[in-house]
Amino acid sequence: MFKPGRHFLQIPGPTNVPDNVLRAMDHPTMDHRSPEFGDLGRRALEGAKSVFKTASDVIIYPASGTGAWEAALVNTLSPGDKVLMCETGQFASLWLRLATRLGLEPEVIETDWRTGADVPAIAEALRNDTGHAIKAVCVVHNETSTGCTSRIADVRAALDEAGHPALLMVDVISSLGSIDYRHDEWGVDVSVGGSQKGLMLPPGLSFNAISAKAKVSAQGSGLRHSYWNWEEMLKANETGFFPYTPATNLLYGLVAAVDRLHEEGLDNVFARHQRHAEATRRAVRAWGLEVLCRTPEHYSGSLTAVLMPEGHSADAFRKVVHERLNMSLGNGLGRLADRVFRIGHLGDFNDLMLAGTLSGVEMGLKLAGVPHQAGGVQAALDYLADAARGEACTRAA
Ligand SMILES: *Cc1c(COP(=O)(O)O)cnc(C)c1O
Repeated sequence: MFKPGRHFLQIPGPTNVPDNVLRAMDHPTMDHRSPEFGDLGRRALEGAKSVFKTASDVIIYPASGTGAWEAALVNTLSPGDKVLMCETGQFASLWLRLATRLGLEPEVIETDWRTGADVPAIAEALRNDTGHAIKAVCVVHNETSTGCTSRIADVRAALDEAGHPALLMVDVISSLGSIDYRHDEWGVDVSVGGSQKGLMLPPGLSFNAISAKAKVSAQGSGLRHSYWNWEEMLKANETGFFPYTPATNLLYGLVAAVDRLHEEGLDNVFARHQRHAEATRRAVRAWGLEVLCRTPEHYSGSLTAVLMPEGHSADAFRKVVHERLNMSLGNGLGRLADRVFRIGHLGDFNDLMLAGTLSGVEMGLKLAGVPHQAGGVQAALDYLADAARGEACTRAA
């Protein structure tokens, strides 16, 4: 069926790719052993470091985020190692499954999937582990299935207070470039990133930002691996090259996307995401619906998961929105299937795109016969207008 106008891609990743990033990738395939490539490789690696906020190394894989999850574990750990994993949602549970398949022994700290990682429980597990059997603590920073952001600085503090030497590994796939994140300052050992969410790129690149301590662990890792090996990669990266064919055109995009983030200013990028998230929550409340995240200190800046009223199907609602309004919303994942829909408000996004998105949700609720009150869009517009006025005043002062 012919659909005029532009599709609204409002799933929480992959996200909309800005035109200048698309154009940066529209480039003839190049010789990845040429001097020109070395220059591109160096710029891509430096750019990635600036977004992770690290002075240490970042590895770029031609892989989806799942590959970088695996790379983080196989480079640093050994079969039978105990890992403390925080099961905050579907992505955390997939990382947990991956760790189990690799032969690691996860100790799981669960939540009800409506809040961030349970830091007091992590602290207790670390205090009780006097023999230091736990080799790594794994947390998903922004759980894309629930719209809850965990407090990584607090997890770091729990490790420090317990005097525990475990590595800290953090999945930042849906927070990098959209929610404040500080690899070095928060003492993270391996940060796992992906290209297709806050970084505004197509899928296909993923990252490991690695601390000096993680590199030491890599010397003694007993899990077999080859493709993911950090050492070979780091050696080639010294001159901007890769040990195997890199995703050249995506690297052009990465350089352009990182420049774009810095042109806006990372702090402004994060503030914009928080503003759009707050406007979205105001709309949800005005509709009389419920935001899945129940603890405000864990509200996500990059997406909002919305609970469907009892007896109504989130997937049926999403289908109506897709067919009638040409907009994609995120589905409920795992145990949240059909119970929630997710509004992605991350990446290359502005007030009017959010207004269009929320209008689509409000129209969709009406079309699908989901009980709600009108006025969600208005509540969001009022908030956005106030925020814009406030910004104008700050600039004038
Ligand atoms: C999208 C996502 C993943 C999975 O990444 P893929 O690129 O699909 O492999 C993992 N973790 C989080 C938090 C994500 O949002």
